[in-house]
Amino acid sequence: MSEFKLINILNSKKITKEILVPIGDDASILKFGNKNMVVTMDSLNVNTHFSDLESPEVIGYKSLAVNISDLAAMGALPKYALLSLTIDKKDRLNWIKKFNIGFKKLSKKYNIQLIGGDMNKGPISISITLFGETDNKFLQRENAAVGDDIWVSGFIGESFLGFMKKNNANFKIGNNCLNEFIKKHDYPVPRVELGLKIKQFSSTCIDVSDGLLLDLQRILKQSTVGADIFLDKIPIPKKVKKDCNKNISLFFNLITGGEDYELLFTSNKKYRNRIMHLSQKLKIKLTPIGEVKKHKSLRIFDKDLKKLNLPNKLGYDHF
Ligand code: ADP
Ligand code: MG
Repeated sequence: MSEFKLINILNSKKITKEILVPIGDDASILKFGNKNMVVTMDSLNVNTHFSDLESPEVIGYKSLAVNISDLAAMGALPKYALLSLTIDKKDRLNWIKKFNIGFKKLSKKYNIQLIGGDMNKGPISISITLFGETDNKFLQRENAAVGDDIWVSGFIGESFLGFMKKNNANFKIGNNCLNEFIKKHDYPVPRVELGLKIKQFSSTCIDVSDGLLLDLQRILKQSTVGADIFLDKIPIPKKVKKDCNKNISLFFNLITGGEDYELLFTSNKKYRNRIMHLSQKLKIKLTPIGEVKKHKSLRIFDKDLKKLNLPNKLGYDHF
């Protein structure tokens, strides 16, 4: 059973004119007069997304970050949030104060106004509904064209390394201590500015939440195309590059681990220079990692252009 199959049971087929983007993308888009409202919802649950020992500040920050990232992937600007908090019986006054510090770090940065929510008792769970806006140009998962370049922002796998280190202080790759990646795991920076800018050049976009390969496959499926990806082009952290090149399963762990919250997007080749220029202007690394293809599969090649077998799991699936 996969998450995709379960969601498909619920998927309502009826689409009215006002629903510009229905179920199936990073967020939905609704037409309201002359404006387009973009809405997304994501939840974090204790023992699934974080342990009971996790810092409430990190939880507050991350629960908003993952939602902002979904709006960034649509090329939208976040504006208003609803927050549903479920907390257990313990005295959680301090917990909520600290949660709020993390939440506010991001809501202030993006000028997001909390407009309501809900409070419940039970195992800790945070659910956020985030509203944003966009003009008539926005990014979906379904318009990748054969020949498009496939780009990714930042580095992939930092969050995986941070997660491993956080859960096992002895975790090492080569002689690297990897402590700096914990911050990348705890405080991912959603790519709002990038989403707003690249929409003029891009045919599709998704945020890398569940793993580079799985999220790329979502674009491919919804666009009914395939892709060729080149392993040595994928921007993994320099510190572990040598080790990953020697150990393919470690490399695959980095690109299927997820929680990178980088943007993965496709663009016509004619925009290459402009995208590189944008990368310099925003000071965000942007890397072309492959090409959209007519064949319908996802293929990965090593530096000698040898086709590799895909790993069994392309990314994180809850079920
Ligand atoms: P993301 O990882 O970008 O947050 P998800 O994988 O959570 O996206 O969801 C994929 C799509 O399925 C989204 O469009 C989401 O709105 C929709 N979806 C997920 N769960 C449900 C549900 N319980 N009912 C209706 N739609 C859902
Ligand atoms: Mg998403």
